[in-house]
Amino acid sequence: MAVIRDVMPAFDLLQPKSIDDAQKLLEKHGSDAWALAGGLDSFDWLKDRIKKPKVVVDLSGIEELKGVRSVSDGIEIGAMTTLTEVVNHPLIKQHYGLLAQGAELAASPQIRNQGTIGGNVTQDARCWYYRAGWPCYRAGGNICYADTPEGRNREHAILYADRCVAVNPSDSAPALIALDAKFVMRTPQGERVVDAEDYFIGPEIDITRLHILKPGDLLTAIRIPPTWAGAQFYFEKVRDRNVWDFPLLNVASAMVVSGGSIERMRIAVNGAAARPLRLKAVEDAVRGKPPNAATGEMAGKLAVQGAIPLQFNAYKIPLMRNLVKRAIGGVQEATWAS
Ligand SMILES: Cc1cc2nc3c(=O)[nH]c(=O)nc-3n(C[C@H](O)[C@H](O)[C@H](O)COP(=O)(O)OP(=O)(O)OC[C@H]3O[C@@H](n4cnc5c(N)ncnc54)[C@H](O)[C@@H]3O)c2cc1C
Ligand code: SF4
Repeated sequence: MAVIRDVMPAFDLLQPKSIDDAQKLLEKHGSDAWALAGGLDSFDWLKDRIKKPKVVVDLSGIEELKGVRSVSDGIEIGAMTTLTEVVNHPLIKQHYGLLAQGAELAASPQIRNQGTIGGNVTQDARCWYYRAGWPCYRAGGNICYADTPEGRNREHAILYADRCVAVNPSDSAPALIALDAKFVMRTPQGERVVDAEDYFIGPEIDITRLHILKPGDLLTAIRIPPTWAGAQFYFEKVRDRNVWDFPLLNVASAMVVSGGSIERMRIAVNGAAARPLRLKAVEDAVRGKPPNAATGEMAGKLAVQGAIPLQFNAYKIPLMRNLVKRAIGGVQEATWAS
């Protein structure tokens, strides 16, 4: 019988109990360190021997990173709060149901029980080549294996690609953008708070990361202001199988309708680019219009302007157009039904 002599490279496991200690450890070990949340993405990388950190900083013992709290300006969700808690929390369900919907469609119950909201928005790209350790652009090389005539690119980007055509796979991210969430980080320079849409970056800024965190940075919480609390929400995810599967595309929107017209709307899609996209042009174009099929049709067309398909993902263009259209028409139907 063959004996497998290959083992995971060893690392030092550090288990801080406070945000201060965790950030200092991440800062001290810089690019040698790996922050470990629920481990769903992390353990794939480590067990596949693709990423080989010298130090793993386990965040699971930091109580102040866990839970959902009411704050003066909305709610705050600790980065180590599980997706299951996010889905079931009464404050989120009551006021920010869009996030509960998105989080509930991520992965499987077991993964949601262990996976955290911080990990979900910070998870890495799911491109087959990259995950298998191929030395592509995102891995520091000088080629994209997916963007070739025979590359496996059915799941990849139709917008804003720059060398790398991988997409951001998070289901909670577009909901957080639509809710105008703020991401709170502890960095070597102190606390930093950014709008959800600015947490995510494309390859034109840094091809090796999907987010703005640098070595030494820790995501501590996500705050959601009351701006869109109780608005009319729409979340739809399209995936290959209706069991756990990453989104091919998803859409999240919040809309306030007054006197039969759209007073204001925020809408974001994911799975179309390396970062979740807030569709500002759509938000502007639908303001003052009735939330009906004609407005949805116009918005859908606008949303996909500039999209460029790869060899095997042209289907994403009509799919995104229709998701945006339904985000407007679907809300209207829900309103009439209630
Ligand atoms: C089989 C499978 C199916 C899945 N399907 C879906 C899906 O359909 N939709 C979806 O959205 N997701 C899906 N996921 C992703 C899953 O939801 C994420 O892997 C999970 O949310 C990551 O969270 P985690 O807590 O396990 O983080 P980890 O895996 O521990 O961390 C993920 C990354 O984030 C970094 N990180 C985590 N927390 C912090 C922090 N507080 N500060 C700084 N860095 C941090 C880690 O260093 C790591 O790089 C799936 C995963 C699997 C394994
Ligand atoms: S799409 Fe990005 S991650 Fe995938 S092979 Fe190309 S460069 Fe690598």
